Amino acid sequence: MSSSKKIAVKRFESLDEIMSINGWKPNNPLTKHNYADLHGHYIFKDEDKVKCCLQKANGNLCRQDHQFGFVAKLRDNTITLLGNCCAKDNFDADTDIGQAVRRYDKEKDRLNQINTLKNIFEEKEECLMVLGELRVSLNKVLKYVSMFSEKVGNGNKEALLHMARTKNNAVAIKMVKYHEGDDGEGNLIKDKQVTKYTLGKINGVSIFNTVYIKSIIRKIDAMENAYLKLYSIDLEMSKSDAVKLKTEFDGYGEILSEGEGILKSLGGFKNNKFILMCFLTDNKVDQYKGAKAALEMSGNNVSRDKAKQWLGDYKRKLKDKHKVDRIFVIT
Ligand SMILES: [Zn+2]
Repeated sequence: MSSSKKIAVKRFESLDEIMSINGWKPNNPLTKHNYADLHGHYIFKDEDKVKCCLQKANGNLCRQDHQFGFVAKLRDNTITLLGNCCAKDNFDADTDIGQAVRRYDKEKDRLNQINTLKNIFEEKEECLMVLGELRVSLNKVLKYVSMFSEKVGNGNKEALLHMARTKNNAVAIKMVKYHEGDDGEGNLIKDKQVTKYTLGKINGVSIFNTVYIKSIIRKIDAMENAYLKLYSIDLEMSKSDAVKLKTEFDGYGEILSEGEGILKSLGGFKNNKFILMCFLTDNKVDQYKGAKAALEMSGNNVSRDKAKQWLGDYKRKLKDKHKVDRIFVIT
């Protein structure tokens, strides 16, 4: 077999398919002397196995069961079977058959990579559409975050970003109760009791990590470029070029899951108890802004003063409920 001859890779998936090849003969002995060419390879779908027809030195057939192997053509134009490992173990690379199986496997591997690229190419339009839609949605999240941040003020925005980075989304306050008493010797003693109380958790804070969202958008841009450059698949390209090209598309699934994670966070964020926004910072102005935003979120568009009053009432009720004298935001 000349080494420049083009290798035609053909897979057989059942013994029936092989038996229908012209020249098929069962138990047809194969040796390096009667071997002519490779006709294809078999990988059976249903895990069936066939017996290897390699003829051993003692004249017997190998008869080892194989699920993978080669379909070989002999010099008399008959067809027989050769198990995968038997082909590699019994014929060195310098024999015709040894060289043929090695070249065949190489071509098969190359075509597998080309097929993967073909699948990527077939999905190109759909993937571009999905990426484009994701970019639009993520830009909407950025817009929402910027609008919301402006509403609640810088202190609250920083607190939300800190939560996103530390993944600690609990809003806690410090409650203080003062005690005054007599030490038994006529002296007044003051004492205070401090307890920590968690008001709740703010869901979906990861949307405030805009650096992260922008990094996903950059990945979308790069992936889109990779798809746009893929306008055809060169069927003759080498395996290593095909593998290299394929790696450009490896991140697709990750981009989708990261992007969808952010969209889910936005949904979670919009369902928060927005009163929590008033307890993120000890800056009073930001607290009132938080209160105004909280009221707005629940459909009550009120003035800053009204919001301030509402927050004051809320804090008073909180103090009464827990029978404490003061509450402090924990920053
Ligand atoms: Zn064998």
